[in-house]
Amino acid sequence: MNAINPAIHVAAASIRLGGVTKSYGRLTVIPRLDVEFRAGEFTVVLGPSGCGKSTLMQMIAGLERVGGGRIVIGEREVQDLEPKERGCAMVFQNYALYPHMTVFDNIAYSLRIAGVTKGERRTRVELVARMLGLTDYLGRKPSQLSGGQRQRVAIGRAIVREPAVLLFDEPLSNLDAQLRHDTRVELAELHRRIGATTVFVTHDQVEAMTLADRILILNKGEIEQYDTPKAIYHNPASVFVAKFIGSPP
Ligand code: ADP
Ligand code: MG
Repeated sequence: MNAINPAIHVAAASIRLGGVTKSYGRLTVIPRLDVEFRAGEFTVVLGPSGCGKSTLMQMIAGLERVGGGRIVIGEREVQDLEPKERGCAMVFQNYALYPHMTVFDNIAYSLRIAGVTKGERRTRVELVARMLGLTDYLGRKPSQLSGGQRQRVAIGRAIVREPAVLLFDEPLSNLDAQLRHDTRVELAELHRRIGATTVFVTHDQVEAMTLADRILILNKGEIEQYDTPKAIYHNPASVFVAKFIGSPP
């Protein structure tokens, strides 16, 4: 990238889950999951409500503990590490921005906590703002932004620390159709530029088909199919997948 239009670009890391289980009390959400999200790929996790998508993401991010099994990010076993030690950043559906802080401070916050110097913070935040079209909004408070702009601030906050892994849990669900489409296009472009291993949860088939290098279809915490969008569409592994994806009969 040149000096006028530089970009964040990370060393992507694979995410490997081996024998991962999870229960909440007597409810088994993930009976046993073995899967690898490859370094630098954009994986979409698709499945009905309650099948364990958010639980999976939270276990990778370290916001929920695994019941058993191992999670390896890059070369490091992370299931016992604190969230901040895992090199992941997560964007939620209900991304809570700090309402009393400006856009600049919202994006810079994690850098400040990490001890990044003021000058470096400014450089990094301005770079991210340019990537996301937020340059003119850095002085505003979240309440002075549209829904789409707020979502972009949440994305900026996630990418500013250059995480090796980006986790999105239905980040576009609260946006209207046009904005969903636009943000989807931007996310694809962002992924191309940043190169982070991305896991993106949605229940929207169109989102899955257009964004994914690979789609993981979950049903009751188990893998129904894990393959490219094309393969899944043309060769669904089960009736469940065919119905879910809307493949031709
Ligand atoms: P999804 O994101 O696919 O909709 P979740 O991972 O949120 O699914 O939830 C999977 C199942 O686990 C659901 O039955 C849900 O009610 C339950 N669940 C999720 N989080 C908790 C929790 N903290 N305590 C108890 N049950 C939970
Ligand atoms: Mg969920």
